[in-house]
Amino acid sequence: MKSNPNRGSAPGERALSILGATGSIGHSTLDVVSRHAGAFTIHALTAHTSADALIELCLRHEPQVAVLSGLAEDSSLRRRLRDSGCATELLFGPGALLRAVEGCDVVMAAIVGAAGLPPTLAAARAGKRILLANKEALVMAGPLFMHEARRAGAVLLPIDSEHNAVFQCLPTDAGGRARLTEVRRIILTASGGPFRTASFEKLRTVTPDEACAHPNWVMGRKISVDSATMMNKGLEVIEARWLFDMEPSCIEVVIHPQSVIHSMVEYVDGSTIAQLSNPDMRVPIAHALAFPGRMESGATPLDLAAIGQLSFEPPDLQRFPCLGLAYSALAAGGTAPAILNAANEVAVDAFLSGRLSFNGIAQVDEEVLGSVSSGNADSLDAVLEADRMARASAHACVGRRLERAA
Ligand code: NAD
Ligand code: MG
Repeated sequence: MKSNPNRGSAPGERALSILGATGSIGHSTLDVVSRHAGAFTIHALTAHTSADALIELCLRHEPQVAVLSGLAEDSSLRRRLRDSGCATELLFGPGALLRAVEGCDVVMAAIVGAAGLPPTLAAARAGKRILLANKEALVMAGPLFMHEARRAGAVLLPIDSEHNAVFQCLPTDAGGRARLTEVRRIILTASGGPFRTASFEKLRTVTPDEACAHPNWVMGRKISVDSATMMNKGLEVIEARWLFDMEPSCIEVVIHPQSVIHSMVEYVDGSTIAQLSNPDMRVPIAHALAFPGRMESGATPLDLAAIGQLSFEPPDLQRFPCLGLAYSALAAGGTAPAILNAANEVAVDAFLSGRLSFNGIAQVDEEVLGSVSSGNADSLDAVLEADRMARASAHACVGRRLERAA
């Protein structure tokens, strides 16, 4: 799996760049790749500020390029790599993420948040094969992203388990294009998160550690909080709208606490096709890495008799208003989903650092969505400007709440 910087990939090997290599999805991707010697060579690895973790990955995988996007030039880190005999070129700053998507065949887009949009869009414009975990690229800039991907012939393979499940339930060609003509509905499953049965009173006093303790999945802290508020499902509705070109009224959400059915597609004849597996992100990652083939993922096979029961219930939009906000943002169109996403990133960060209550997340999201006016989302600049305005508004909103509480 190591790549000698002087030779590039061997015949049959695909050069893989992992954006967000030190995160939860990055870790699972490297785990799957390590099970298939000779299938992939690691071209580039990126992290934001986790220098030690990235250097450790460089020593193990010897990519041609590594990027620390949240740090300024640091020659001592370069020296550390060189002194360990590692020939990886270490780059710094957000602009260097664009270098990570050059010169590879496959990009795993696994940066968390809005920061993932520019390099993932660059990969789309370069016609890469993109394994899309960074849902924010589609939430913020769905029509633009899909247009650019189609124009450049990029292949989009969903990693989000729900979208990967839908993709697996649809007829597709080898280029990853899905045929949706006889589809009536997409049904996204949601675990309901750690507070599925919690009372309104309990939700007021939830702590960050409680919110991050997801019952079925181990994930980064941002998406864990989003799963607890159900904003994650809202973002996934927006992601599905653009990825599969489905009207929002044809995308439904059902709570399925066991996280065994990862989503379903209902056809016009009444047939519903589902994809099942244990909740392990290595399953969608292996599916996308091998597509249109299959490869071993390391996940434990399903034992349905041991699971016993699969249950379903409707989502509760009173206790979890974030899901409704996502449908509202989709209905508003333009930059509204980017505004909601940015507000939510600020609000979740404030919650994780103890400056905002759990219920305050939805309140900040709603206030910003209602107060920042949306415009056309037809260029990256327009989307990033909406993101900036929404962040400023959300920071002010969090600040006002802190003052009132003081
Ligand atoms: P994580 O927090 O575990 O890892 C995030 C990675 O992105 C890290 O490598 C980090 O260094 C990097 N990063 C963080 N901020 C950055 C910034 N501003 N600029 C550049 N890089 C930055 O996150 P994760 O749970 O692996 O999630 C990654 C993406 O995948 C998210 O968009 C998430 O919604 C999506 N996703 C994750 C899961 C999961 O199971 N973890 C499932 C479905 C979808
Ligand atoms: Mg998901």
